[in-house]
Amino acid sequence: MKVIIVGGGIGGLTTALMLHARGIDCEIYEQSDAIRELGVGINTLPHAIKELAELGLLDRLDAAGIRTYELFYTNRFGQEIWRELRGTDAGYEVPQFSIHRGRLQAVIYQAVRARLGESRIHTSHRLGHFREDEGGVSAYFFDRHGSHRASARGDVLIGADGIHSTVRETLYPHEGPARWNGAMLWRGALDWPAFLTGRSMVIAGGMAAKLVVYPIAAGAQPDRRLTNWAVVARIGDGSTPLPNKEDWSRKGRFEELMPHVQRFRIPYVNAQALIEATPEFWEYPMCDRDPLPRWSHGRVTLLGDAAHPMYPVGSNGASQAILDARCLADRLCSAEHVVHALWMYEQERQPMTAQIVRMNRKGGPEGVIDAVEERAPDGFTRIDDVLSFAEREAIVRGYASTSGFARDQVNKAA
Ligand SMILES: Cc1cc2nc3c(=O)[nH]c(=O)nc-3n(C[C@H](O)[C@H](O)[C@H](O)COP(=O)(O)OP(=O)(O)OC[C@H]3O[C@@H](n4cnc5c(N)ncnc54)[C@H](O)[C@@H]3O)c2cc1C
Repeated sequence: MKVIIVGGGIGGLTTALMLHARGIDCEIYEQSDAIRELGVGINTLPHAIKELAELGLLDRLDAAGIRTYELFYTNRFGQEIWRELRGTDAGYEVPQFSIHRGRLQAVIYQAVRARLGESRIHTSHRLGHFREDEGGVSAYFFDRHGSHRASARGDVLIGADGIHSTVRETLYPHEGPARWNGAMLWRGALDWPAFLTGRSMVIAGGMAAKLVVYPIAAGAQPDRRLTNWAVVARIGDGSTPLPNKEDWSRKGRFEELMPHVQRFRIPYVNAQALIEATPEFWEYPMCDRDPLPRWSHGRVTLLGDAAHPMYPVGSNGASQAILDARCLADRLCSAEHVVHALWMYEQERQPMTAQIVRMNRKGGPEGVIDAVEERAPDGFTRIDDVLSFAEREAIVRGYASTSGFARDQVNKAA
């Protein structure tokens, strides 16, 4: 069997490793001229880390990222709403990692190069179109100037080509642009003094604006960390068109961001100073797409953000792409016919990811701080008087179990 993978992001590269581990031949086609370490912080949840650990990548992840110790949800004054341990510190058999997205991608990419060989990765190859027939699927790749570079023939084509997926657009030509909810996400990272345990993550604020701060790598000195920050603020009501096309590499501007930062007073980390000191940072409009009824069409399917782009809340973007990769590789390995394998993969993965897309629209686990801010916008004396423990637990733990990363679910699978 020969598999064509379109897209060399975390989803496409992990799929290549998974297929290789099962003896299935594949080639990756990536439109960029190199696999670069782009992006800033990302969290990868234990159920996805379990898959990367099985691929033998745990040591390399430890060298690249931070094992997340705890997660705090607070209001904009830093008052604690919910706190929980994460990963192995919470009794999971595998860690959660807070990591630079580019370094996570690099760990997986280096493994692909070492195991599959350089010749299996084709950069500067943008998928233009593909054609399926009874015996297989043919794909046509172009350079950035639009000149034809190569054609490929395989038994299966996997569209792991992100939120602007050409494969998805070909399967659903009338779908139209991604949906914007009116919120903008600004994010950056900087070497900064460690706060709390040096492995703590804070999500503060509520509906109007949220602030997220967590370390993603060791810093220049032992008491410093490469510290990721993100600010999400509502700048429209979602009815207007996108201010800029969603692009993870668009630079942000201080004059647009800073008015949203001033409302935060978090005692243990001076977020305002951290953000002001960051020389460059990026903006990304909070976009997703409605869940699709089907991903698999004959010998062609979708994976990762191409299949289920979701708001980046709840740490599920990269994690779900990794879970897709595992499931698809297993199905391709065991089914009698590739078309049936793709159908089974979709049956298994589509319902859960559609549910996460919908939960993320309501804020995902961050709904807990939204609810508190709505009831107590100026702070509180006792959190239980604002939102009971049971209500807070239902929001945060409900999200974890629906997304498949509650502790018992992951440990049982491990
Ligand atoms: C540059 C970049 C920076 C990001 N930064 C962050 C971040 O800081 N924080 C965060 O939470 N998430 C970030 N993300 C998103 C996050 O990586 C994804 O949500 C998640 O990892 C799922 O990945 P994916 O492989 O499905 O899609 P992606 O990571 O989007 O990868 C898709 C890949 O397909 C390639 N591609 C697209 N179209 C074609 C085509 N026609 N032919 C060939 N190749 C094609 C793209 O160049 C890209 O490399 C970023 C994504 C990108 C692309």
